[in-house]
Amino acid sequence: TEKRVCMGSSIAYWAERNPDNIALDDPSGILTYAELDRIVTDYARAMAGAGLKKGDRVCWLGKNSGLYFTLFAAASRAGLVIAPIGWRLAAPEVAYVLKDTQAPLLICEPEFAETARNAAAEAGTVQTILAAGEADGLQALDEWLVKNTPGDLPETDTSEGVLQLYTSGTTGNPKGAVLTNDNLFRLRPLVENKPEHAWIDIGPDDSTLAVMPCAHIAGSGIGPIAFYNGATMMVIPEFTPDGVLDCIDKGLKQFFLVPTALQMLVSVPRARETDFSSLRSVTYGAAPIPLELLRQCIQTMPQALFCQQYGMTETTGTVCILPPEDHDPNGNERMRGIGIPLPSVEMKIVNENREEVPPGTIGEIATRSGLNMLHYFNNPEKTAETVDADGWLYTGDAAIMDEDGYFYIKDRVKDMIISGGENVYPAEVENAIFGHPQVNEVAVIGIPHEKWGEAVKAVVSPKPGVDDVDTDSVISWARERIAGFKVPKSVDVIPELPRNASGKILRRELRAPYWEGQDRGVN
Ligand code: ATP
Ligand code: MG
Repeated sequence: TEKRVCMGSSIAYWAERNPDNIALDDPSGILTYAELDRIVTDYARAMAGAGLKKGDRVCWLGKNSGLYFTLFAAASRAGLVIAPIGWRLAAPEVAYVLKDTQAPLLICEPEFAETARNAAAEAGTVQTILAAGEADGLQALDEWLVKNTPGDLPETDTSEGVLQLYTSGTTGNPKGAVLTNDNLFRLRPLVENKPEHAWIDIGPDDSTLAVMPCAHIAGSGIGPIAFYNGATMMVIPEFTPDGVLDCIDKGLKQFFLVPTALQMLVSVPRARETDFSSLRSVTYGAAPIPLELLRQCIQTMPQALFCQQYGMTETTGTVCILPPEDHDPNGNERMRGIGIPLPSVEMKIVNENREEVPPGTIGEIATRSGLNMLHYFNNPEKTAETVDADGWLYTGDAAIMDEDGYFYIKDRVKDMIISGGENVYPAEVENAIFGHPQVNEVAVIGIPHEKWGEAVKAVVSPKPGVDDVDTDSVISWARERIAGFKVPKSVDVIPELPRNASGKILRRELRAPYWEGQDRGVN
């Protein structure tokens, strides 16, 4: 195979050039490119022979594994679309995704067999559930693959969907973003002088790590990054500091972690004794990172290049980076932002009418590039709301761009509070409250107010061992740090803040009881 049309054919491409190079390294063992190519081809032909039709969805319910990425590659060769489902989700949430994908086939890891069965029963769309290995009376994947007479592989096209990922559900129901072969191909770095991903800098002699959950682009996106570049992909089932440090001990060259994972990594004593010299780059993002944590990470891994990534499911992950040269062990202003768009990406700030605004003005980030998704699956209205006729995708993130073209996130547009005509960004208020000695977590929301439209409210959870948060002191703490109109008028104390599976706080759930029967304009 000469052409790397899809991830599967790209594995074949590298199997011809570097057959003995290690493609996959996971807890079950290692596979060379030649071995992986053979398995991917067998799986693809078995899927085609099983009567799956071009464009059918195949769902995966499990942690990260070599098997998941093998199925992903096989699906790409068989003209199918893989849709991984978050393993932390409860059965009704899994059912929502199953139903939305209309997938006839669901493959699960044995430990999720029960959830898989319950969710499939609720969704009513799945025809076959297979388990990787046998589980609880479910048919084993391997037997099923052997049983099917190999079918012919269809022609595939770079413009076709191949990966369907659900957004995290932070601002509403998760949406199924369909990413194409071409979207994923753009994740390959610089082997062929395409400068847009120079910071990844990974080729056949290098290794990268799939560690963030495969139901998110930060997990699944590692497959294309490794396999379009002929590199080695290490896989660990889920994030643990030891899991990552074991990979470092094996000579890992780069990884991507979300800020909370980075924090756990640098906090374990073993990190201080680890030799990080193989590690050339640390990439991080998906949520804001506290400057202090970033400085601590740079001190722990001083030889690594640090690169922050900003993006979303709908943009195949990263569209904007804070490049290594803007990182400084002592911290600097730019480290509070998300940096500059990738060379092949356009990014601008727009107002409510979607007109571009001058530097220094807060508005919504819009972006346009070959990384934008094909569409939301079976949801033309939502797609049309999000992507305009000129191909600009509206992110829902409020930010400003400075004179140098650097972007700084303020918050989600939907979370912005308009109080007495003033815009209040919850993130800024939360940052101000964060250091209060009794407060563990904080979320700031707008609640209805007769005079001001919305009033600022803080919802906090207490630090372990704190029985009673003194809410007046929270308000005065904030008053010392931010302008009066941003200071919360009231504070609620609850044991723990609601979060989704990606660990993002669900402000919409906190708001809901206050807005019952009233329209907030945005939900
Ligand atoms: P939903 O779209 O269902 O409400 P979500 O937007 O949280 O959920 P994702 O696609 O997983 O789902 O996350 C993308 C969002 O994550 C971005 O729109 C942005 O708000 C946030 N984000 C991503 N990278 C960064 C970053 N480097 N710094 C700050 N926030 C980031
Ligand atoms: Mg989103």
